[in-house]
Amino acid sequence: MKTLNDFNFKDKKAIIRVDFNVPLDENFKVTDATRIEAAKPTIDAILAQGGSVILMSHLGRPKGVEEKYSLKHIVDEASRILGVDVQFVAESIGDVAKNAAANLKPGGVILLENLRFHPEEEAGDVAFAKELASLGDIYVNDAFGTAHRAHASTTIIAQFFPTEKCFGKLLAKEIESLNKVLKNSEKPVTAVLGGSKVSSKITVIENILDKVDHMIIGGGMTFTFVKALGGKIGDSICEDDKMELALEILKLAKEKGVQIHIPVDVVAADDFSNTANTKIVDVKEIPDGWQGLDAGPKSLEIFEKVIMESKTILWNGPLGVFEMESFANGTIALGNFIAAATEKGAFSLVGGGDSVAAVKQFGLEDKVSYVSTGGGAMLEMLEGKVLPGIAAILD
Ligand code: AMP
Repeated sequence: MKTLNDFNFKDKKAIIRVDFNVPLDENFKVTDATRIEAAKPTIDAILAQGGSVILMSHLGRPKGVEEKYSLKHIVDEASRILGVDVQFVAESIGDVAKNAAANLKPGGVILLENLRFHPEEEAGDVAFAKELASLGDIYVNDAFGTAHRAHASTTIIAQFFPTEKCFGKLLAKEIESLNKVLKNSEKPVTAVLGGSKVSSKITVIENILDKVDHMIIGGGMTFTFVKALGGKIGDSICEDDKMELALEILKLAKEKGVQIHIPVDVVAADDFSNTANTKIVDVKEIPDGWQGLDAGPKSLEIFEKVIMESKTILWNGPLGVFEMESFANGTIALGNFIAAATEKGAFSLVGGGDSVAAVKQFGLEDKVSYVSTGGGAMLEMLEGKVLPGIAAILD
């Protein structure tokens, strides 16, 4: 696996695919610069060696050229974070881009215009990728968020750098962290899978059964399993057409020696609302008119024991409707168990949209080992897929 350490960037132009797809407010000010900050270590390292940097990214989902999606809006913020004067280039290919790249001096940084202004980017167009490739000497991919896409700048471009290509620090860290869970994990390994639906997590569950000793299933998925096992789930969320699959998973887990832990009690509510009446009930005996919206205290006790005995922990998806304060307790408690296990020496990886939001919201970011930056990309890796952006560098 080639990283920045395999190259000397002195007097070289690095063309880096970053993920600067940051949120902007109505005045085009960056509201969350996490992704720019995440790319800084890679850029700093290359500049420190006397190299120069050509940054390329997408922003939003423009249909052709749309000014509101121009990367010019983020140049000031990028300059501030990187501590260098980032020069914006109003094109991503063509003469303007070529001249800007040709005039780059060691220590210089340019940012190309939004790649998705060209439909060729998402189409994975070879000629477009070749044009981009012609701008730099070494290709660096540091965008985990788009590593599952075979786009021109994330994958196709790599073929024009037979040997001069590598992972940036962020992407290398993502791969290393996921490998710590999926490949070189210290046992016992526990996966916590929550969220709303079985259908969106099923491939992950199936793939991960081979790698874990314990699996905690929580959130809305719980009820498909409980109903399949003959429990009464009241008005809780359920995918009836996935009940058979749920039973199959339980059978498969038994065969593979994986212990599955499903909530035994829940916080039930008489309405999907923060101000609903609530009561703690047995997960198999939820009355009609009530729905389970969070894990109950007995469940949390069981989960705590499993987590505290784990050496490797993967967490994807909340245990309840954590967006509402009344149903956030289970997710907060779980986060705290994982933080405590991490302090005791476990390796913990949190990933996938909503659990990352939960970890940030509850101030646990620095208390887990690693928080992944890629939602879809992370899920696909957990599903056992080889991501095209990663394969292209390994080729
Ligand atoms: P996902 O995107 O599949 O990870 O699902 C995350 C969403 O699941 C969050 O918005 C939670 O509010 C929701 N969720 C978690 N537990 C429940 C539940 N018991 N009933 C309904 N929705 C839930």
